Amino acid sequence: MSDFDFDLFVIGGGSGGVRAARVAAGEYGAKVGLAEDDRYGGTCVIRGCVPKKLMVFASGYAETVDEAKFFGWDIKHGSFDWHFFKDRMNSELDRLEGVYRKLLANTDVEMFDQRARVKGAHTIELANGETRTAKHILVATGGRPIRPDLANAHLGIVSDDIFHLERLPKSILIVGGGYIGCEFAGILNGFGVEVTMYNRAAQILRGFDEEARGLIADSMRTAGIDIHCGTSIVEMALESEREKVPMPSHSDAATGALASRPGELNEHADVSRAGAQGPIWVKSTNGAEKYFDMVLFATGRVPNTDNMGLEDVGVKLGRRNEIKVDEYSQTAVPSIYAIGDVTDRVNLTPVAIREGMAFVQTVFGGVPTPVDHLLVPSAVFTQPEFGTVGLTEEQAAEQEPIEVYSTSFRPMQTAFAERQTRVMMKLIVSKATRVVLGCHIVAPNAGELIQLVGIAVKAQLTKEQFDATCAVHPTMSEELVTMRNPTRTA
Ligand code: NDP
Repeated sequence: MSDFDFDLFVIGGGSGGVRAARVAAGEYGAKVGLAEDDRYGGTCVIRGCVPKKLMVFASGYAETVDEAKFFGWDIKHGSFDWHFFKDRMNSELDRLEGVYRKLLANTDVEMFDQRARVKGAHTIELANGETRTAKHILVATGGRPIRPDLANAHLGIVSDDIFHLERLPKSILIVGGGYIGCEFAGILNGFGVEVTMYNRAAQILRGFDEEARGLIADSMRTAGIDIHCGTSIVEMALESEREKVPMPSHSDAATGALASRPGELNEHADVSRAGAQGPIWVKSTNGAEKYFDMVLFATGRVPNTDNMGLEDVGVKLGRRNEIKVDEYSQTAVPSIYAIGDVTDRVNLTPVAIREGMAFVQTVFGGVPTPVDHLLVPSAVFTQPEFGTVGLTEEQAAEQEPIEVYSTSFRPMQTAFAERQTRVMMKLIVSKATRVVLGCHIVAPNAGELIQLVGIAVKAQLTKEQFDATCAVHPTMSEELVTMRNPTRTA
């Protein structure tokens, strides 16, 4: 008989926490408790990957309808009904949250629908003041989006708020050109919102392959997104509080961007849970002053470690307030582990799930299982999508002599519809070992493609093994096995 209330207490009911809880309970018979103060499913299911992907699907239909006429279809453009879509999206999220709760209930995980914090190496304090003890504590509290340190930043929304908008704005400024900024730029542009993006660096999507970044930026611009690189926001205010600001001309000659006139947009003003309810005046680093219906800060996310009691019990935090863990996800306090975005390692849902599984295997399965963070494939759901695995050309060239096989072309389907959209297939190959070190795909459904190529890259197959695979014709991805000569070496 254990001296503790639970064998495992999980704080946080997102993808990682729920998986660890139900596998520990269901497969290893552990007595498990789990506390969640918001909705079960966490960022991915409730305010991230899942609703975002539904929005990607929804926004893609405008282009599909446009293209259909080139294939002989007599289809008229209709209008997009945000309320209809949002209601259906919310029903789906309710269903998924129900699935998560059921999975936990089916494995007899005791659920506490409230906030919990760490009180001791084996003690958890619940928001209602009660305490519980556990042999092991797993912190899986995820992260949250942040606004920059800027006066009136509260006037802008963050990605969590997008899913709750009462109305779509007519124009939006997206600050930040990372994953979230680029994905929502494409989604909202597809919905007919005038999208402007300020990206403080010289190019969007920092850290990814340069060639891919360039092509995605070109595609976004061609689609009508007004991207300003080397630009950030320095001041913002509600139009109603900026009487003295001169009215910008409707077409801003300096940038070629449309500047919305205050007053014109009142009927579109957003009444979301966060953010302003009227045109927002924005001054940027290049001196331009413009009005937008809405501002979205996509300026990064931080780990949820505030007021968790972690440092008081000896858990070490890093510079970004992330929980420091070893390769087994163990913190400086041996009975306390942490997984997922709260550890700020590779902040992706499938990684958090794998970290949860490795933790369970280590602690309850008796097989110490380090988490493998190498060669994780991922996708950015821009339009077209971007799938990537392994080293970028720049990283690989730093490491060793390489050959680059890269091709960019107009794919059959969109070229037939007279679109200029280009796709890219790129392999980075080690000169010494011939192993494919990285693969980068910018193309429709690149997320699906990179999942499959990821297997080959993870298995460290060589370029010659890629080439030994027969092409599937006619497809875009056949180029991955038919590129004979390197485009360049480095
Ligand atoms: P990212 O770190 O990807 O991008 C943040 C962007 O904001 C960068 O362009 C950054 O510029 C810029 N920025 C940061 N601070 C400021 C500031 N003060 N002023 C102006 N610009 C600023 O973060 P995201 O929020 O887009 O995404 C967070 C994480 O969520 C991702 O790293 C990813 O792990 C995960 N995610 C994954 C998705 C997927 O797998 N498809 C989708 C969405 C999120 P700079 O580059 O110069 O630092």
